[in-house]
Amino acid sequence: MLNSDLIKATASAIGFDMCGVVRCQKFAAEGEFLKQWIADGKVSNLSYLQRNIDKRTDATLLVEGAKSVIVCGVSYKNRYSEGYKDCNQKIASYALTTDYHITIKQMLQQLCATLKKGCPTLSGRIFTDSAPVFEKRYAVEAGLGWIGRQSLLVTPQFGTFVLLGVAIISEECDRYDSPLQGVGCGECRRCVEACPNGAIVERHIDTRRCISRATIERQSDDNTPLHGWIFGCDECQSCCPYNRRAAAATNPRFTPTFDPIAIDWNKIDEAEFSLRFANTPLSRSSLERILSNIDTTTQMDK
Ligand code: SF4
Ligand code: SF4
Repeated sequence: MLNSDLIKATASAIGFDMCGVVRCQKFAAEGEFLKQWIADGKVSNLSYLQRNIDKRTDATLLVEGAKSVIVCGVSYKNRYSEGYKDCNQKIASYALTTDYHITIKQMLQQLCATLKKGCPTLSGRIFTDSAPVFEKRYAVEAGLGWIGRQSLLVTPQFGTFVLLGVAIISEECDRYDSPLQGVGCGECRRCVEACPNGAIVERHIDTRRCISRATIERQSDDNTPLHGWIFGCDECQSCCPYNRRAAAATNPRFTPTFDPIAIDWNKIDEAEFSLRFANTPLSRSSLERILSNIDTTTQMDK
């Protein structure tokens, strides 16, 4: 059995801003919703979301015998999270830092290794947007926040600029968290109104119109307007009042590694692109795609 307070203290010492612990559970209703969302075509070309829905709804299919889930979050809010002014090469805040698949994974590995010293029987797996897991749903169950109208986790203290990672583990914990009560979006609809493409439908996204998808997964016949974004899109986050009042990230691992508006994309080549952005989320893209997005958004904005 693991001590919940010890888990949270360890997560905090490693650099996570938030940590909650919940029982491993099934999310059947969310699975049905996801199936309908896919059937409605709102998944567009994001084929990975169509696979392994059974595992997404039941984490014991990913980790046999799983008993508990540790949900950790860390703020990545930086100077570009409140928006850009008159820019046609905007990059989402999360993509300005070292790829969270690397940083969060390292942090979760450190957390589990530390916990294992006091509990040698501990086993499990860690995930950070790397497998079919309802991470946001677990975060809600763990009392970290609620699902906002733009379908992101909103946390009272850190807003939505939060990266999540989970450890699905074999051990019971002495105490489990529960969802926050009396918090939510209230009457606010700023994110719905801020989305330039009207892609937000109540608490989910029609990814066919979403800029974030289009900048990264665009196919040749895709005419989604990009509104100055060349990788990702923060419009439905920058406007959120919870982000306006949130402090900037304090964990140095999430400090931007480059200045997106200082780069002359026409003056670098693919080799330099690969070298400079190898450890950032931009490595999922290419210089060719970035230049094509600049072209697309410049043409459409004329
Ligand atoms: S990421 Fe951008 S395009 Fe997608 S829903 Fe949010 S505001 Fe709309
Ligand atoms: S902008 Fe408003 S509606 Fe959207 S997530 Fe934030 S609080 Fe909720």
